Amino acid sequence: MPELPEVEVVRRGLESGIAGRCIIRVEVLHPRPVRRHLPGPDDFAAALVGRTFAAPRRRGKYLWLPLTDGDAILAHLGMSGQFRLEAADAPLAPNTRVLFTFADGDPQLRFVDQRMFGGLSLSTGGAELPAEVAHIGRDPFDPEFDLAAAVARLRAKRTGIKRALLDQQLISGIGNIYADEALWAARMHYAQPTQALTRARATEVVTAAATVMRGALGQGGTSFDALYVNVNGSSGYFDRSLAAYGREGEPCPRCGTPIRREPFMNRSSYRCPRCQRKPRRLG
Ligand SMILES: [Zn+2]
Repeated sequence: MPELPEVEVVRRGLESGIAGRCIIRVEVLHPRPVRRHLPGPDDFAAALVGRTFAAPRRRGKYLWLPLTDGDAILAHLGMSGQFRLEAADAPLAPNTRVLFTFADGDPQLRFVDQRMFGGLSLSTGGAELPAEVAHIGRDPFDPEFDLAAAVARLRAKRTGIKRALLDQQLISGIGNIYADEALWAARMHYAQPTQALTRARATEVVTAAATVMRGALGQGGTSFDALYVNVNGSSGYFDRSLAAYGREGEPCPRCGTPIRREPFMNRSSYRCPRCQRKPRRLG
């Protein structure tokens, strides 16, 4: 799944592309991406005609497209969901699933999704904060993000630090990539017990997560398989700046020790075995 920087790249592209524009036609080319809209694809399309988009919003990895009447379209990017802004006469990208045409003409908004784990759903009254997103914690880019409170919540958990960083109710937006990068930056092992962290160390790792995600945003995000793209269809290039994630066997940029990959929560964790030593109490 795309993490905070990749979703924010999409949100920014949409903000200049759709805010203030009135929808005159919606075409659902494949029913699966709108499966969460229970009355069906035809109803989804008809329900949106005549409505106007406000500025797109995001919390953590969750993106929604508010409408000026107070409802919103909740966008689940899943593994491969993409938004594109393209002229109506431009050829459809493979796997284009939903088309939005506007009263003011070009560009169209197109939802493309190869694997179709993602999709679009209508969230009644969801413009400010969709009910589906209400349980998600604020992310570090949120002006109302409270660092001290987030650190206190994290230290109150009895879990490993990486699990805590991935907990979207605690702090949102961080996934496997930026958790590994934050832990590398803070020289911390992923299994470090949160309750044993000093306030200073916990603050350091959360701040590192925000810093690395800000750096990624500045480079358009990270893309490994060309599925995370901006509204023009191009990918970010932060993968070149990653210190640990995806770099098994390559030298740690700080000390030169080969990065190690270890199984973690059905996926992988990457760490420098020298800079990020296993906490002693774990044996
Ligand atoms: Zn190292």
